[in-house]
Amino acid sequence: MSEIPKAYEPAEVEHKWYTFWMEGGYFTPKIDRKKKPFVIIMPPPNVTGELHLGHALTAALEDIMIRWHRMKGEPALWLPGVDHAGIATQVIVEQRLAKEGLDRHKLGRDKFVERVWEWVNKSRKSITYQHQRLGASCDWSRERFTLDDGPSRAVRTAFVRLYDKDLIYRGERIINWCPRCQTALSDLEVQHKDVTGNLYYFRYPLADGDGYVTVATTRPETYLGDTAVAVNPDDERFKALVGKKVVLPVIGRGIPIIADSAVDTSFGTGAVKITPAHDPVDFEISERHNLPIINILNPDGTMNEQAGPYAGLDRFVCRQRVVDDFEKAGLLEKIETHHHSVGHCGRCQTMIEPEVSKQWFVKVAPLAEKAIKAVTDGRITIVPERFTKVYLNWMENIRDWCISRQLWWGHRIPVWYCPKCDEMTVSIDKPSTCSHCDATGVVQDPDMLDTWFSSALWPHSTLGWPEETEDLKYFYPTSVMETGYDILFFWVARMIMMGLEDTGAIPFDTVYLHGLIRDEKGEKMSKMKGNVLNPNDAIDEYGTDALRFAVTTGTSPGNDINLGPHRLEAGRNFANKMWNAARFIFQSLESKPLEIGALSNLTGRQLKPLEDRWILSRLNRLVLSVEDSMSGFQFGEAERQVHDFFWGEFCDWYIEIAKIRLGKADSSPLAVLAYTLDMTLRLLHPFMPFITEELWQGLKQRLPEANLDSPSIIIARYPEGNEKLVDAEAETVMETVIEVIRSIRNARAEHKVAAGKWIEARVYTDRLQPAIAEKSDAIETLARARPLAVLSRTERQAKEEKALVLVLKEAEVVLPWAGMVDVAAEKNRLEGEIGNLGNQIDRLEQRLKDKAFVSKAPAAVVDKEREKLQSFKDKLLRLKQELSQLS
Ligand SMILES: [Zn+2]
Ligand SMILES: [Zn+2]
Repeated sequence: MSEIPKAYEPAEVEHKWYTFWMEGGYFTPKIDRKKKPFVIIMPPPNVTGELHLGHALTAALEDIMIRWHRMKGEPALWLPGVDHAGIATQVIVEQRLAKEGLDRHKLGRDKFVERVWEWVNKSRKSITYQHQRLGASCDWSRERFTLDDGPSRAVRTAFVRLYDKDLIYRGERIINWCPRCQTALSDLEVQHKDVTGNLYYFRYPLADGDGYVTVATTRPETYLGDTAVAVNPDDERFKALVGKKVVLPVIGRGIPIIADSAVDTSFGTGAVKITPAHDPVDFEISERHNLPIINILNPDGTMNEQAGPYAGLDRFVCRQRVVDDFEKAGLLEKIETHHHSVGHCGRCQTMIEPEVSKQWFVKVAPLAEKAIKAVTDGRITIVPERFTKVYLNWMENIRDWCISRQLWWGHRIPVWYCPKCDEMTVSIDKPSTCSHCDATGVVQDPDMLDTWFSSALWPHSTLGWPEETEDLKYFYPTSVMETGYDILFFWVARMIMMGLEDTGAIPFDTVYLHGLIRDEKGEKMSKMKGNVLNPNDAIDEYGTDALRFAVTTGTSPGNDINLGPHRLEAGRNFANKMWNAARFIFQSLESKPLEIGALSNLTGRQLKPLEDRWILSRLNRLVLSVEDSMSGFQFGEAERQVHDFFWGEFCDWYIEIAKIRLGKADSSPLAVLAYTLDMTLRLLHPFMPFITEELWQGLKQRLPEANLDSPSIIIARYPEGNEKLVDAEAETVMETVIEVIRSIRNARAEHKVAAGKWIEARVYTDRLQPAIAEKSDAIETLARARPLAVLSRTERQAKEEKALVLVLKEAEVVLPWAGMVDVAAEKNRLEGEIGNLGNQIDRLEQRLKDKAFVSKAPAAVVDKEREKLQSFKDKLLRLKQELSQLS
């Protein structure tokens, strides 16, 4: 039997057991057709670097669910993976290249991709290592990378099938263009920021020389791409102008004035410039009116040859030149300050340009319809429920999804163009010839797919789809998709759409959305603010279990978590509490070994000592309530309950009373101690896997063989509650005993009785008297009350000596003053306190009579003062009562 160290040393313990679990193969479930599996596909972290606290939370919550279901005997699969994270990874590698004075164009496509792989392979290693440190019991034998052959084939297959069903098309649409990344972005990848800019009023002279039309714009340079001026057909002010022409100043190009009901008469002057290549509304108007589309920008955000004299200028330099030129020509009417929202690249924060571009799109509406139904008909549940509305609202207003990216890192679009007939060949595998004319030399589309396209297939692509693998047949649909609410649209919604489309089945039954981790003050963690907490550092300092405890306990789905040192300390303190309690039990077991079968014979009710019945009753109630909370996805609440039971009932009371019993010859509490420890360790294992395994193995060593018949707590049965073992009678008695002890302890503290001093106490009660009397030794020892008498209320004397009387729910406790305090000194103390309090009350009353204060101070402040006065008065009354008891 190994000696148990005095303090818990997480680092050593964690490494030892993770290796033990890996070697035991516990993370790999066995396919058993008779059982329904429990499956979580891990949201793949981006290969962009280290894991942050959000990942730690994800890992902790998913591990809780997986370990819990595994202990319930279900085949539990947690499939890990990593995401190539197209644009995010490319931007990071580009930033590293910039430091070497390089860029991807100088390097060329192949060399660049090589550099990305170098970075990715390093990152992957550290991500795996971090997950293992976090205790993640995921099945590493099934680990997937989005760029693996399987998931890549799934991506191409899904693309081709959607294309064949006309659900993917290539077209000219307004997309969001990042001039720095030089790629298209989906609407979700754009961050809108409120900025204060200008609204410029430009005069466009009429072609017939008869006056001008004034239009307002926030982006003056776009006038170079104008192909019309539009007014609302119902706008009386402009009726006469429709059909005429204006001439664009400087460049001298003539454009028509048209009428379109999409024009908002309240914007600017009511006449608006139409720039179809750089505005989504203008683009739609241009389609209705067959207007030309003039793109004025180069991919890098400089002006192209369409900009005439401005060609080659940066877009913002051009803006100022245009304004200057209009002013010189007397055509700048005015400039107004204008607050509006401007899109920025979510990756590099560059201001995006809406731009017409030939891109690939998914026609989302038909997919969304099925995905909406899957939620409204209850096949998929979203936890917490309030996000259902958010999901439905977004899905109902969804726009086509731009999936092509002008990147070099990711899944290449599986489309080849024919040099001879110009037709496209869309194919899962690289075609050798054109499918239309059989010409050779087809060239693949240079673009990549949006990284979320492969993410959308993750639940089925990781399990082998499009192949009908054993894994896919058994583990799909999966059980829970656990992720942050911030990627509900990016990811969850698209998985539902694509899962249904590709497999005909929902990808998961439940969506569990967790909140974001903020700092102790509730502020978002960011490198800029310097309030970021690194999970690695937290593990080094507090241990993995403490970190897991800190991020999960007392939290609920969808709500943000404020995390700081105090929560981590609470986690570490709890681990130490468990350690010390177990250490005491182990030492006791070593000196008095238990008999074989001691634990299985514990059935509760017929047990003799009250506290045994009580703790087993409380334990059963706990188990039932934990089951309830866990089934309702309230893991933080379940954890809090076990914590409170272990600390507040088992350690503070049961173990303390057991210590008294262990010193005596009669019935031993050892079996109950060992049993309760065993059960709470099992309950806590999903939350704090390392310390529970360490202590459980320690317990196993010290029990007769076959008492804990599992090689590891990881597959030991999760406790199942038994309502029949709930013993209300034992709970009432024990609660009273605890209340008696607690009230005497409080009275001692309040009256500053020296810790070692014995004081006399009498407990009066009715029907519980015999039961409580049996616990006299516990009351005596734990309250340091001697002589102690537990009497029936009928025995209470009408006139007793001067004493402090504590009125409890089921009993009164009488503490004679004489034995407890120096009466004269106590009288003095009370009189002093009464005097002080009286003065404070006077001052407060004066203040509240002061009309100036009452009328000027905020109502909340006045209310607070009133409350304070009332509580002072109550306290004064109690002090006076105490004083009268002394005299
Ligand atoms: Zn960008
Ligand atoms: Zn061809």
